[in-house]
Amino acid sequence: MTATTSREGQLWSRCGGCASLLYRKRLRRNLDVCPECGAHARVDAPERLLQLVDPGSFTALPERPAEVDPIGFVDLLPYPHRLTAARAGTGLAEAVVCGTATVGRHPCVLAVMDFRFLGGSLGCVVGELITLAAERALADGVPLVLVTASGGARMQEGALSLMQMATVSQAIAALREAGLLTVSVLTDPTYGGVAASFATNTDVVLAESGARMGFAGPRVIRQVTGRDLPEGFQTADFLLRHGQVDMVVPRHALRGRLVALLAAARAGRRPASRPGVPRQEPSSLVARPAGGAATTSAAPGGDAWETVRLARHPGRPTTLDYLETAFDGFVELHGDRLGADCPAVVGGLARLDGRPVMVIGHQKGHTTAELVGRNFGMASPAGHRKALRLVRLAARLGLPVVTLVDTPGADPGVRAEEQGQAAAIAENILALTVLPTPVVAVITGEGGSGGALALAVADRVLMLQHAVYSVISPEGCAAILWPDRPAAPQAARALRLTGPDLCRLGIVDDLVPEPAPAAHHDPQAAARALREAVLAHLLPLLDVPPATLVRRRRQRFRRFGAARLGARAGAR
Ligand SMILES: [Zn+2]
Repeated sequence: MTATTSREGQLWSRCGGCASLLYRKRLRRNLDVCPECGAHARVDAPERLLQLVDPGSFTALPERPAEVDPIGFVDLLPYPHRLTAARAGTGLAEAVVCGTATVGRHPCVLAVMDFRFLGGSLGCVVGELITLAAERALADGVPLVLVTASGGARMQEGALSLMQMATVSQAIAALREAGLLTVSVLTDPTYGGVAASFATNTDVVLAESGARMGFAGPRVIRQVTGRDLPEGFQTADFLLRHGQVDMVVPRHALRGRLVALLAAARAGRRPASRPGVPRQEPSSLVARPAGGAATTSAAPGGDAWETVRLARHPGRPTTLDYLETAFDGFVELHGDRLGADCPAVVGGLARLDGRPVMVIGHQKGHTTAELVGRNFGMASPAGHRKALRLVRLAARLGLPVVTLVDTPGADPGVRAEEQGQAAAIAENILALTVLPTPVVAVITGEGGSGGALALAVADRVLMLQHAVYSVISPEGCAAILWPDRPAAPQAARALRLTGPDLCRLGIVDDLVPEPAPAAHHDPQAAARALREAVLAHLLPLLDVPPATLVRRRRQRFRRFGAARLGARAGAR
């Protein structure tokens, strides 16, 4: 629905679907669905809550966000200015509203995103608030309902916002383990990091009529593939046809469907079966000191953009190179068992200094032909599902997992979207958060966004000296925030994507030094350094009991948002 025209004040709206001029009150009574053509206008979080919950039953959770600008991000405007404007414009503290309520007299916890607030983007505070909502659901033993509306992760918070995909996913995993229902309601639009995590790794996924959901946005896909997109691409009906959502629900029926789901979950639950609520260890609430102190001094003094260019150098050792040099006896395992074998992800059994491990990594190549054959290291859903199969196999065999991350990002293609790219990434993130064997991830080249995180939820995250790890490519960030000029080098600096920056933020634990001037000048030396670093971090993990391992891994990802909340204010 477009904004009202000034002449008509607030009384009339023009439908975005059929252009009918509609009396505003009548439209609101009709839940912002056009009575002429059925188009569903976007609704904000407060209005959505009014539509879904029993009258008067909603109590906001007490946590309030503090002012936060974790990487000091500046584009044309400093990030805090954008936050202030979003708060003034919406009357909300952040892009999500969380609270307890009853829906059809069934108690639940809801987290409702608001697209008006910086595009509903997922930053540290949003991740923390949704995680706290999930933890409240766990503590109360009630279902969690997520209503998503988001352009994706919030680039102004760099890789820290990427981490929120893991943080929220592990909270979802805890609800799964406790047998508590999780439901997501996809509303228009739901993209990127939100689509590739908690929007799709819940038990039941509803799509509101007219909603679009995908990992890559249509603009990006059109740009990358140079093709027109199929009619109805990424719409709710498309998602239903491709098996990615349980149902498409018109807004009028949404509350009724939720009531039915909550009723079924309640009937099926035996109260005695609920395990005790896991308590967070106090240590997880304390900000961790900057990691990687031992080797950050080996970091390049160079510019972030120069590091990006080194990380992408075609001569840089690939995963198969490292499997040849740093590991022994690699036996490659192929296929996702669902109909495909993605060449951009390789994996299998290998030995590291005599110990058996499962190694999984993105595979690029050195020549154009190799790069094309490997889809430039951009994994399809089949690649993510192959990785998932292999980590689960590792868990069954009790083998540690080593992942080597080198991807510009997940495959942003039409087929990838049809085959559920977002859900494939989301499932991997969730599976890695609960894996009972040690996981060490090494960013060896490019750590691009959700595609990288799909292999990087680990007990230890290492990074080669000239590798980068980022929520969005510098070019992608520049196109959005500096639309009038080429600003990728500037964006690279603003995003804090180099190893030393990420160590300071606690996202990366240690840097792996490269032979001077960079890994591709001496691949053998690079392999030795990688092997030593992985061993140094993996060996201490081998003796940790599985339950402790999983708990610590969760705490590792939990802390990225925990420090971002201010004093608890009373419920509104
Ligand atoms: Zn209409």
